[in-house]
Amino acid sequence: MLEVLPKIAKMQASYALGKPLALPMNYTISVSYRCNSRCKTCNVWQRPNDDFTLEEYEKTFASIGRDAYWFTFSGGEPTLRKDLPDMVASAYRHCRPGIINIPTNGIQDSIIPGRIEQVLLAAPTSEVIINLSLDGVGEKHDIIRGVKGNFERAMRTYAGLKNLKGRYKNFTLGVHTVISNFNVHEFENIYSFVRDELKPDSFISEIAEERVELDTVGMGITPPIEKYQPVIERLQQGIRNAEFSGVSKITQAFRDRYYDMVKRTLVEQRQIIPCMAGVASAQIAPNGDVWTCCIRAESVGNLREHNYDFRSAWMTSKANELRQSIKAGECHCPLANAAYTNMVCHTPTLAGVATQVGKEIVAERLPGRSSSKRRSLPVLSATDTAVAVSSNGNGHRAPRSLPMLNATDVQDGCAND
Ligand code: SF4
Repeated sequence: MLEVLPKIAKMQASYALGKPLALPMNYTISVSYRCNSRCKTCNVWQRPNDDFTLEEYEKTFASIGRDAYWFTFSGGEPTLRKDLPDMVASAYRHCRPGIINIPTNGIQDSIIPGRIEQVLLAAPTSEVIINLSLDGVGEKHDIIRGVKGNFERAMRTYAGLKNLKGRYKNFTLGVHTVISNFNVHEFENIYSFVRDELKPDSFISEIAEERVELDTVGMGITPPIEKYQPVIERLQQGIRNAEFSGVSKITQAFRDRYYDMVKRTLVEQRQIIPCMAGVASAQIAPNGDVWTCCIRAESVGNLREHNYDFRSAWMTSKANELRQSIKAGECHCPLANAAYTNMVCHTPTLAGVATQVGKEIVAERLPGRSSSKRRSLPVLSATDTAVAVSSNGNGHRAPRSLPMLNATDVQDGCAND
């Protein structure tokens, strides 16, 4: 982890000067818009497909080199690409990232565990984090994700992934829940299920955002702060009451601060700490467009037009214009991916986490210490009223009404297969 410190210093200097002195540390690679889910909170599957080939990724990763530290391979559903392990192998060979993160809907239960095992083998010294998406328990999950039988298949995938845990020390298995107007009232149920039944290595929840990338702007999927705040407080209570060891102490301290920032961002409607998107983090769309982040999703250049040279696409006048706009605070959002990089690059946050973790370690070593922390948590009082799913009444787009898919229809409907 210490190897990231010189990269942070370069990112901070780049931000201060308004000019990149190094390439970003954090890359989100959206490998395809194809998806076998039909979520109420995402329309990405309707976007046209013009996916990069493995050869195109190979040239791109070669151009990025060792400045990278964190890769997220997202989509769409990234595991639909059978060459996902080859892409990871290519990123590993050229960039040797410390962290590789991959979300999955878990629908292809007979394929995903094997594909992820290939990913683990392809990046033996990277920490590989696989996050299963879970937006409800049982049929409620299927309704939000638009696929009958999704929950059952996701549980089979989770069991298959859990089987890999003992064999791969570099594997973190997580659960990721998007909180929208469709499930904010169900959060307690989801939380208890994840904690008591799934027992993942990590659990993260993000508020459903209206994103250009997902074509959800104006859909009214984002719950109001008064409904989302109890969810955040519940998550923070879980972090503060639990005991963690090793690196988990650090990640959970950052997570606690992330949730504080989300609350403040939603209330104050501004960047709480400087956003380093465009300097420290970047996204590559499936067709090679380079973005500073997926919320603004404005291309600064297309890699195909820049001979797959990331630096060339990253140094355009459009990229500089966006960097100035972001630094001027012309946008704000609670996007987790960018927020974690921002926190790592923000000296007061970094110092606060280091002090907190240091104090906890010292306290644990004091003789006669008895911890009041425990993993089982008190249950929040049921505060929420019925969910108010957005309607046209406040100018939102009407909620989409689509027939649900059967998981059997979408199983193995693989891109690039
Ligand atoms: S604040 Fe949000 S929208 Fe603005 S650049 Fe950062 S990640 Fe993107």
